Amino acid sequence: MAKDYYETLGVARNATQDEIKKAFRGLARKYHPDANPDNKDAAEAKFKEISEAYEVLSDESKRRMYDQTGRVEFGSGRSDFTWQDFSHFNDFSDLGDVFRNIFGGNFGFGGSSDFASGFGRQEENLDLVTNLRVTLEEAYYGASKNIRYRRNEICTHCKGTGSDDGRLITCSVCNGTGQQRVVQGQGFFRMVSVTVCNTCGGRGKIPSKPCTTCKGVGSVPVTENLEIQVPKGSPDHLRLRVKGKGQSNMGRTGDLFVILNIQEPNGMRRMNDDIYLQYEVSFPEAALGAEKEISIFKEKLTLKIPPGTQPGEILRIKNAGMPHVNGRGSGDILIETKVVVPKHLSPSQKELIAKLDEESGKKRTWFK
Ligand SMILES: [Zn+2]
Ligand SMILES: [Zn+2]
Repeated sequence: MAKDYYETLGVARNATQDEIKKAFRGLARKYHPDANPDNKDAAEAKFKEISEAYEVLSDESKRRMYDQTGRVEFGSGRSDFTWQDFSHFNDFSDLGDVFRNIFGGNFGFGGSSDFASGFGRQEENLDLVTNLRVTLEEAYYGASKNIRYRRNEICTHCKGTGSDDGRLITCSVCNGTGQQRVVQGQGFFRMVSVTVCNTCGGRGKIPSKPCTTCKGVGSVPVTENLEIQVPKGSPDHLRLRVKGKGQSNMGRTGDLFVILNIQEPNGMRRMNDDIYLQYEVSFPEAALGAEKEISIFKEKLTLKIPPGTQPGEILRIKNAGMPHVNGRGSGDILIETKVVVPKHLSPSQKELIAKLDEESGKKRTWFK
């Protein structure tokens, strides 16, 4: 289940950094376990949640990653969320009452110094993310696209256990805890990093006899061919989730996230669900008005140019733009008129234009 960090902090998806900071401060005070002596465990859990949400949303690059993919990998590799991540909270001087308690002496709540180990214990991220190029036309009509990628699949021989006979023994490196802890003292802060045991990969157990098919890994590499349905009206960067098509490890399988990269053709720009383009109109068409047929992808549309249309005027063809991805209807086509002045004129054309000018009461000398 992806966590909704915005919901956790109770802020809008477009909240400013100030709003995020303010929401976090309020919640941090409210849920600090020392302020909830009767309800410590629930408050601690809530406090971790809001801290994690704040950690992500207060950092523009993590926030962007979260907005686009729905999750953020902390640090590199499989490291857990640790106190190190909190060092920057130091700058909240007005949060002193809360954080003095945390950073003063021991880091735990109410004397427990083992807070880090329980902190937001993240399982290994098995999700895969891939980009898919889609033309604006494919997004306009909806499309089905094939993708091909490599992933690890649960080994069917050992059912992901990695053990040939299904038997597992306790890992001697971590004594079955699945974790390796490194504690470093650094000035005022003590950092506890908890990493996944390299030998057993966090399981705490290792196969008694490695599986012959997967060599004890529990998964095998496969090439996956998938058909992805691009929904009608997909916005750029739309994230599609394909359940169970991510990496597999230790019997668990993540999801595949396909992020659409929508390519606009030359001369066409998408603005939300409107499509914008420029269109050349002759002087007589602009002056007298006209009906023209224009093509948008496979559609033939009628553009009505009203008499007296000015250069740069935006004409609108209603409901012919991008379909709304969540619901009925479509955006519009916005057509900016470019009135074209002819470069080469025949003598009789010149005469007609001069006559037009004369009619409007002007007297001048013309170039011949
Ligand atoms: Zn181990
Ligand atoms: Zn196997």
